[in-house]
Amino acid sequence: MSDVSKVGVRMFDKILIANRGEIALRILRAAKELGIATVAVHSTADADAMHVKLADESVCIGPPPARESYLNIPALLAACEITGADAIHPGYGFLSENARFAEILADHNIGFIGPKAEHIRIMGDKIEAKRTAKRLGIPCVPGSEGGITDDEEAMRVAREIGYPVLVKAASGGGGRGMKVAKTEEDLSNALSTARTEAKAAFGDDAVYLEKYLEKPRHIEIQILGDGQGRAIHLGERDCSLQRRHQKVLEESPSPALNDTQRAEIGEICAAAMRELRYSGAGTIEFLYEEGNFYFIEMNTRIQVEHPVTEMVTGIDLVNEQIRIAAGSPLSITQEDVRFEGHAIECRVNAEHPSTFRPSPGKIAYYHPPGGLGVRVDSAVYQGYTIPPNYDSLVGKLIVHGRNRTEALMRLRRTLDEFIIDGIETTIPLFRTLVRNADIQNGLYDIHWLEKFLATGGMEPPAE
Ligand code: ADP
Repeated sequence: MSDVSKVGVRMFDKILIANRGEIALRILRAAKELGIATVAVHSTADADAMHVKLADESVCIGPPPARESYLNIPALLAACEITGADAIHPGYGFLSENARFAEILADHNIGFIGPKAEHIRIMGDKIEAKRTAKRLGIPCVPGSEGGITDDEEAMRVAREIGYPVLVKAASGGGGRGMKVAKTEEDLSNALSTARTEAKAAFGDDAVYLEKYLEKPRHIEIQILGDGQGRAIHLGERDCSLQRRHQKVLEESPSPALNDTQRAEIGEICAAAMRELRYSGAGTIEFLYEEGNFYFIEMNTRIQVEHPVTEMVTGIDLVNEQIRIAAGSPLSITQEDVRFEGHAIECRVNAEHPSTFRPSPGKIAYYHPPGGLGVRVDSAVYQGYTIPPNYDSLVGKLIVHGRNRTEALMRLRRTLDEFIIDGIETTIPLFRTLVRNADIQNGLYDIHWLEKFLATGGMEPPAE
């Protein structure tokens, strides 16, 4: 840490980026703009990755499997030691929500660019998270007070909240360990399958019950806190377009909310974060149905879809994360936050656009779109070979317009311009979606995309 006396705050000298792909590059850009040196780490599969080429220094930390490289804490500590990095940014995924990792870094006097370990731990346990949210005045989905251990109790709770109900894994993630029970007859089956799935996926078979919402939207609130009692919200992102509980396209503002609703739910979240003395960036996720918000979880990290918020607020979230972790108070007040225009993000995956089969391989030709209001966050380049070892996100196309109509027109134009040859990508899916009337009218819930795909939405039109 050095004293930047010009502005009177301490700042990190060198940040190690414990991630790969587009988010590694995103973090690198924020660090460079702050004048901070960067260290890239990589597995042997990522020796040619863009973040490795652009960082000031790089260290190979292990073989391709993530648990031997990007999740290898001793290797990351050694890389800090070798390079003299005084902080780690974990990005998303990998170690970003590992409370133990944050504690280990603190023990080694290395800054963790993320929230306090105690908050990561609370929010990582879905039952504890819900209990905390409720205590902080955040509206929750009706459900069991805590974990459910026997079927009798489950039946009683389910009768109380009314069917259909959803059985969820306490340590859940990525939509695994979730089962719907439409009637009492389904319930014991749903409980045992959810328990088995949860045990296999997370090593923990604790489950809880929630009212199953039939046609919700997924709306999440971006917050920033400085751990010193100040916290603000940066509006919402609508992430209702999902496939297998994975977000596909995100936009801000949500076509379903008005300014009053935004200010209300935003302030509830900001007030909760002030009370918690939350530090850093975070996202409070809700399901939204008929004017009501229902908390589902909080992510204590930067999210894939953060650029849509940056585009409508002009605030660099990663820059804020770094400054907060270095001990700076929030530089902006709620009144400073202005929401301008509309932003939409498409997650471009190396997958077949209708079967979603992964398609790693060499990018033969690459031409990203450009022009006013266009942002491409990607780490690929022409001639780069996408390794088969990691998730399939190739990049994110984000457009901004003065209003939703302009953003959609711009999205259509940029999708037509975007060329990635040599591999299959989901760009053709987005070309179809942007021309769809429901999408254009903002009329979609979390089930819309699955239904669209199941009813042949991506089949080539009949001759
Ligand atoms: P995970 O951590 O596994 O991703 P979440 O709690 O974030 O689990 O839920 C993931 C997705 O599952 C949500 O975006 C939504 O699509 C669906 N879901 C979760 N809870 C409910 C609910 N009570 N009713 C209906 N759908 C739900």
